[in-house]
Amino acid sequence: MNVPPPVAATAAPATTTAPPVSPASPASTAVPAPAASQAPILLSGPDVGPLEEEFVLAAMRSGWIAPAGPDLDAFEAEVAQRVGVGHAVGLSTGTAALHLGLLGLGVRPGDVVLTCTFTFAATVNAILYCGARPVFVDCDPETGTMDPELLEITLRDLQTGWESVGAIIPVDLFGKAADYTRIVPLARAHGVPILADAAEALGAEHAGVPAGAWGEAAAVSFNGNKIMTTSGGGMLLTDDAGLAARARHLSAQARQPVAHYEHCEVGYNYRLSNLLAALGRAQLRRLDEMIARRRAIRRRYEELFAEVPGTRILGAAGADSHDNAWLTPLVVDPSATGWDAHQLGAWLARDAIETRPLWKPMHLQPVYASAQAEVTGAAQRLFEHGLALPSGSVLSDADVARVLERIEEFLDAAR
Ligand SMILES: *Cc1c(COP(=O)(O)O)cnc(C)c1O
Repeated sequence: MNVPPPVAATAAPATTTAPPVSPASPASTAVPAPAASQAPILLSGPDVGPLEEEFVLAAMRSGWIAPAGPDLDAFEAEVAQRVGVGHAVGLSTGTAALHLGLLGLGVRPGDVVLTCTFTFAATVNAILYCGARPVFVDCDPETGTMDPELLEITLRDLQTGWESVGAIIPVDLFGKAADYTRIVPLARAHGVPILADAAEALGAEHAGVPAGAWGEAAAVSFNGNKIMTTSGGGMLLTDDAGLAARARHLSAQARQPVAHYEHCEVGYNYRLSNLLAALGRAQLRRLDEMIARRRAIRRRYEELFAEVPGTRILGAAGADSHDNAWLTPLVVDPSATGWDAHQLGAWLARDAIETRPLWKPMHLQPVYASAQAEVTGAAQRLFEHGLALPSGSVLSDADVARVLERIEEFLDAAR
């Protein structure tokens, strides 16, 4: 697909003066492309083109300009089928899916909810929206996902102390599912339900089961930088019909099914709009192609860094063939390389190539500083020595070549 991500914001007005857009004439042709050497290369820009245009336009012309409609129903059914769960509830964000997932599992104010410290703040905010108390568990340094052994110790200590543990939220980080093979039996043994944060992991699998199908419920995100996007959106996935119905009810202001507006509890306005669902349906049709592209880009990085002692791709090590390769996280041991991840990031930034540090652990965030944290230092080390490399499926071969060239130059200069 050929929509230049960096000019997305300015592309919209330009297209309004262009001839009517049809699937055969992508809007991108109306947008003047910046000089190739100047064009910023984004970490993970949206990958949309003619198919998405066609779907959104059709939805618009159908008249369903509302947070309801046939595209939303179809999108929910298609994602549920893709992931292999009974029910899917389309929501305005992945964060909303986490929030309603926790409420649906019965998490109450004062409950403890365990999650991995190596994640994005949304996971923790959803816990706090419920009035629950987050407890952070560190990650496995090899994969970046929740450390099952530490989880077990923490669970045991909390339950020995008569704490009410309402849920566990493992996080499928950078498109790698958490180690559910070990986490699910632990959760069962302790009688605690799992809400999987699969926001980054649609299309990934663990032990032959898709991300989003693990646990009692799971949240996925369709934010603009995720593996597929509705510009903003999310979904709650579950086999539990009651949980899905409850989330659906709460997501529409908890309105009772009567003609007048009747409410027996506090609800939320969390529904996904029908127009955005149409965009999602087009993206879902391209999901496998987009994953294949991200994986191909990751392979290029793997080949390059295989020659550089002291570097590794987080979670790769022959074990990423079932990940969706959402981002490629590089981890650098500066004592072996003589340079660190931030120097490489700064070098690439000079050429308008975007990279990002890996998630700053939640126990190091000022806002959550008072929360209990069971840590080994693994997430902190990954944060200090990690760098997410440009990974978007929208990157052209020339973009990828430019990034690889700049990295080679950096490595040559550092030698
Ligand atoms: C993106 C993300 C979310 C939140 O999704 P939104 O759709 O942006 O609300 C939650 N958890 C993780 C790990 C994420 O990466």
